[in-house]
Amino acid sequence: MTQIQSEEIPCPFCGVGKITCDHIPSAWSFKAKRTKTLPGSGTASKSAEVWDVKSGCPNCGKSIDEIKKAMKEGTPPDKEKLKQRYNEIMKLKEEMKKEKK
Ligand SMILES: [Zn+2]
Repeated sequence: MTQIQSEEIPCPFCGVGKITCDHIPSAWSFKAKRTKTLPGSGTASKSAEVWDVKSGCPNCGKSIDEIKKAMKEGTPPDKEKLKQRYNEIMKLKEEMKKEKK
């Protein structure tokens, strides 16, 4: 059987609020000893790791759906920040090049 662990993780948006998740680790269903009802077929399949978000963020007010999406696709705010930082660095480099010439 898969084990469901209830965990508290920091909000992917603000990093301050704590959100409650049920964490279901990925597991090989083949190894489970409950294959009596499925005889013969020797295919092993690994279930995906699941984070089931149970609560929204009390700090920034993001909903369960928004947090779920963020966890699936990564956290957009951080990606944006990285992109912004990258652009800033590129700009600086360009300016430095210009000054040298
Ligand atoms: Zn939050």
